[in-house]
Amino acid sequence: MPSYDSSLQEIKDRIDIVDLISDYVSLKKTGQNWKGLCPFHAEKTPSFTVSPAKQIFHCFGCGTGGDIFTFLVNHDNLTFPEALNMLAKKAGVTLQRSEKSVAKKGEKEILLTIHIDALNFFQQHLPKDIRAQSYLEERGISRDVQKIFSMGYAPKSWNALLN
Ligand SMILES: [Zn+2]
Repeated sequence: MPSYDSSLQEIKDRIDIVDLISDYVSLKKTGQNWKGLCPFHAEKTPSFTVSPAKQIFHCFGCGTGGDIFTFLVNHDNLTFPEALNMLAKKAGVTLQRSEKSVAKKGEKEILLTIHIDALNFFQQHLPKDIRAQSYLEERGISRDVQKIFSMGYAPKSWNALLN
């Protein structure tokens, strides 16, 4: 699984969220933050807040919030890879080849792959667990049925899948 954490951080370091959102929303400085009319819901009093310190936005009216990527995804109706490409260009950050292919592949496919990996992981653990097997046996669920329905077993650990 290629990681684009470093590029994401580099893009975030180079693009100020106030600058970016100012291109779309008229913002006014109030104390530490900037405020404006929310582009995601109709309002007459500004509840859309941008924090330069945290580099995030949040709307107290509709609850929308996030970082520069989330903003573009929501505002321009982009996919995450599209927003990534756009902001990388704007920031002058060159994405690594693996990152480019990830961006091209699309978030949907990546998520699908992750789910298949998770399914395989849980399925591999089912035959290994004696208690799970005897439980299923008691209920008359044979190995064949387990396979047909892609049944799996989650080991008693909060991070087994992640590891
Ligand atoms: Zn809003």
